Parts: sequence; C-alpha cells; structure tokens
Amino acid sequence: MEDLKERIEKFTELEHAFNKDFYKKLETRHAPHTLFIGCSDSRVEPETLFQSEPGEFFQMRNIANIVPREEEPDTHPSTVSAIEYAVQELKVKNIIVCGHSKCGGCAALRKLKDYKKKYPYTGEWLMQSISISNYIDEEYPDMKENDKIIMLEKLNAVQQLDNLMTYDFVRQKVKSKKLNLQAYYYDIGNGTVSVYDYDSVFSDIIKEITLKRKDFIEDNNNNNGE
Ligand SMILES: [Zn+2]
Repeated sequence: MEDLKERIEKFTELEHAFNKDFYKKLETRHAPHTLFIGCSDSRVEPETLFQSEPGEFFQMRNIANIVPREEEPDTHPSTVSAIEYAVQELKVKNIIVCGHSKCGGCAALRKLKDYKKKYPYTGEWLMQSISISNYIDEEYPDMKENDKIIMLEKLNAVQQLDNLMTYDFVRQKVKSKKLNLQAYYYDIGNGTVSVYDYDSVFSDIIKEITLKRKDFIEDNNNNNGE
C-alpha cells in the first residue's frame, strides 16, 4: 500500500501542481464526448487506448462489457443508470463497447455451469451473454476452442450494441444521428483494434442470436437443474 500512497503524493505534487489551470477548468466542466463501455479487466483502459486526458471518457465497466437488455426482468440499475446519465444528461456523441483478447469473462462463459458453482454472482451476471456462446457451438461445432473464444469475444462486443438499442432513449438518438454506436475488439498482445458498426459483418448473426436468446437461456437453466 505504501507504493500507492507515494503515487498519489506524486500526482498531487507533480502532475496536478504543474497543470493547475487544466484541473481548475476540469472541475467546473464535465463534457465527455464518449461513453466507454468496457470490461473491468485492468488491461483495457480508454486512457491507454486513446491516449486521452481526464474528462474525455465517461466510463461504465463490468465483467465482459455487458449491457443488460431492456426487456429482461432482472434490472441492473447501476449499469443502466450510467448509460442513461451519459446519453440523456451528458449528451455524449459516441458509445463505444470494447471487447478484448483473453477476456476472463468470455472464457468463463464457455464453462458457465461449473463457473456458477464457484462464483455465483459472476456466473449469474455472465448468463446474459450465454446465448452467444451457445450459438457458436451450434453453428460452428468443428471450430477449435481457442477460435470459438475469440469469436465469442468479438460477437459479445457487437451484441451489446443490439442490447443498447433496446432502450428508447438510445434508439431515438441513434435514429436522429445524435449518437454513434461502435464495438471495438482490442487485441492486447499485438495492440490492434478492430472496429465494428451496428450494421457490421456480424449484424445477421446478432439478429439470429437475439431471436434464439430466450431458448438458450431456458436450456441453460434446465441443464443446471433449476
Ligand atoms: Zn474481459
């Protein structure tokens, strides 16, 4: 902990002291241009990816960068309120959902039954994306497991754009072109980012997954003996 304390002192004495005017202005103006929805993973930060300054990105991060769908019974006010506030109050111009390579949440989705026994809260949260994992098994039975996980990481990011569009306040702003939605896939090892629009190469697949979503979730619950 001593090291963390020293870092804070360094921030106050060096970074903040040398940029006083910047932080004075920042205190009275909160106008981020983008809502960044990312995984809680410590390796995936917009500050690093975009080389950004404080005040640019409003952030909502959770395990596997998931956006709960509006029509589903379980409410997740913490997650949805961050989106509501960013879109309605701060009027961000962009929402970026950022998936990434070697995502622990996506890997857990591949063995969710066992995982739920070990980590019930995380397992329950991840259930929201189980349909993507099941869809990949159904459509690509011969694909190597490693490739399935990469596909899942990418599809899971794009799926969240569809989940965002279940909210009226998002849909309206996208339709009137006041809000732009994009999914990113960040490959940590080689430093590249793939960008997918809502209408991307994956949009037909996402439509199919959404249609099958309820059945997949029911099947999974039945398999768990619930
Ligand atoms: Zn992750």
